[in-house]
Amino acid sequence: MNSDNLVLNLDKKHIWHPYTNTDCHNPLFLIDTASGVELHLSNGQTLIDGMSSWWAVIHGYNHSDLNRAIKEQVDKVSHVMFGSLTHEPAIQLAQKLLQLTSTNKQPDFHRVFFSDSGSVSVEVAIKMAIQFWFAQGHKKKSKLLTIRNGYHGDTFGAMGVTDPDNSMHSMFRDVVAEHYFTELPLYGDNIQWDDAYIQPFKDKLSQHHESIAAVILEPLVQGAGGMKFYHSEYLRQLRLLCDQYNVLLIFDEIATGFGRTGSLFAYQGANTIPDILCLGKALTGGYMTLAATLANQKVVDGIHADNKDGQSGGVLMHGPTFMANPLACAVAYQSLKLLETNDWQNQVNRIQIQLIEELTPLSGSPHVEEVRVKGAIGVVEMKQPVDFNWIVPRFVELGVWIRPFGKLIYIMPPYVIKPEQLTKLTQAIHQVVSEMK
Ligand SMILES: *Cc1c(COP(=O)(O)O)cnc(C)c1O
Repeated sequence: MNSDNLVLNLDKKHIWHPYTNTDCHNPLFLIDTASGVELHLSNGQTLIDGMSSWWAVIHGYNHSDLNRAIKEQVDKVSHVMFGSLTHEPAIQLAQKLLQLTSTNKQPDFHRVFFSDSGSVSVEVAIKMAIQFWFAQGHKKKSKLLTIRNGYHGDTFGAMGVTDPDNSMHSMFRDVVAEHYFTELPLYGDNIQWDDAYIQPFKDKLSQHHESIAAVILEPLVQGAGGMKFYHSEYLRQLRLLCDQYNVLLIFDEIATGFGRTGSLFAYQGANTIPDILCLGKALTGGYMTLAATLANQKVVDGIHADNKDGQSGGVLMHGPTFMANPLACAVAYQSLKLLETNDWQNQVNRIQIQLIEELTPLSGSPHVEEVRVKGAIGVVEMKQPVDFNWIVPRFVELGVWIRPFGKLIYIMPPYVIKPEQLTKLTQAIHQVVSEMK
């Protein structure tokens, strides 16, 4: 047995991977190094990365500017508590985030809460919304309204607003908070808008608004819940309804943020500004775990209003140990600067054009339900769930890293991918689809 197999066997013996059974025989590969859009396996193989490590590694692996940002910070301070202490990386990053989320130079948000993962940023957003209403004496406003097929994370608060089937609400019935769900709007962003699409949402809101603190959803693209795209008019109408019914609006842009959909943030592409914005994943260019929850002045003032005689004393009740980690903030700041110098818009547009050109012909295959592309996201939805244990190793044989789920073969490569590397990804998809029986 070679040493790779020994190591892999130790992994299989001792470690839980995401959503896996301990005796499963899911494919597992040992990574040695990675650079640019290439993953180097310890067996000497090189794979072109089609996943950006779950939306995160937008500038590619082992990037000299990002490496430098971390190395310089490590020599200053790697971590320090954020209670009563602060540091320049956090301040710089907050400034930059508020600047990037501005409309006509007016900031859309006014304050940033840093946390350590996307799920936690969602927990914080939910907490902000509930505290906001409690502070104004609306003690019944403690529920959320969302749409089906959403994904907001794996912690209990976030699970409560994630699609009930995907997050197994039945298994955790007594633990997960019950919120309101409405049907997914008809999807596809090139459909003709019809006001009837908003009706189910409107009905739920008009019926339950007195107990609803906020609406939460992923704008324009639902990620882990099915890679579904939907119409921006849905969001514009939803914003009006939230204002009409006194409900806050939270956008979870943990997946869509930082250019992936073709706008820097999907809310900007949809011309709809939420009250609270969750960011994560690509925030650090995929280097470290960091997330942020941004709130507008209304939310900040509302929570603060509890200052005098309220229960919270105007305090936002959250504070993770590793919040605003300086290494993560330093690399995030550098990643945001890279977005600008690399001209992310141009990178994403180029990927979009190539994905449309190279993936669309697959819609002729009898196995394919639909091909859809938005920004640097390419999705081939099959008619049947794919055979995971066959398809992942087959992609590896073809020299690419693509990890489908359910019926979805999808890619969202690092923005720095070269045309010939992207073609390698799309050709591998053509190849596996042609091999399906
Ligand atoms: C990944 C994701 C999360 C959860 O983020 P973690 O960092 O995995 O906790 C939440 N919302 C959306 C939309 C995501 O894609």
